[in-house]
Amino acid sequence: MTLFPDIFHSYMNESIMKKAVDKNLIEINIYNIRDFSNNKHKKVDDYPFGGGAGMVMTPQPIYDTYKYIIEKNNIKDPRVIYLTPKGKVYNQYIATSFSKTDDIILLCGHYEGIDQRIIDLIVTDEISIGDFVLTGGELPSLILIDSISRLIPGVLNQSASFEEESFKDNLLEYPHYTRPREFMNIKVPDVLLSGNHKNIESWRREESLKITKERRPDLYKKACK
Ligand code: SAM
Repeated sequence: MTLFPDIFHSYMNESIMKKAVDKNLIEINIYNIRDFSNNKHKKVDDYPFGGGAGMVMTPQPIYDTYKYIIEKNNIKDPRVIYLTPKGKVYNQYIATSFSKTDDIILLCGHYEGIDQRIIDLIVTDEISIGDFVLTGGELPSLILIDSISRLIPGVLNQSASFEEESFKDNLLEYPHYTRPREFMNIKVPDVLLSGNHKNIESWRREESLKITKERRPDLYKKACK
């Protein structure tokens, strides 16, 4: 649910997202909240009660968009996620849990945000993508769509691609190297050319631990538990 549907079209029509949609592994429907406004000028925002700067998105168009979505798609128990800097900070664990949900409705705010009654009535999760403020919920929604979709079986070529990547078991990923064996006088670590899979695995594990300890002591603590 957005006021700016075009933002989604170009992203959804490229690369892995497009393939996932074409293969029917995911289905994305974009609804313009403005289309559901009862106001004769299709207004979707108004001044905040109590005063203050900015405009607030009014509840009626959002509620009617929601009703339309669940009725049209025959959805029973959707997860309704409002993207907001006040929400729980998003991470790979939340992405994994969302990837197991059949129906997700993403609600993109704009201006100062949305009327609290919409949150009270229909929102099941409030999610932030980090401690900064954006102009709208469209980029955060795309981040959720991308990170959730790639966890759906079949979207990536090999499931191993995400089983070993950053945040798995609270570790950041080890460094990658590809051809050539030497570039600007820097050689690929010998162990990766050795063909000894056991040694490669333990080198990667060590590198993962080292980089996580340096960069993310918070994750490292959890990984060592
Ligand atoms: N007045 C709000 C506040 O101080 O919390 C900020 C509103 S922001 C300008 C407009 C919209 O952008 C929000 O309703 C939300 O949908 C989205 N947004 C901005 N920053 C975000 C973030 N860090 N995570 C998720 N959504 C965000």
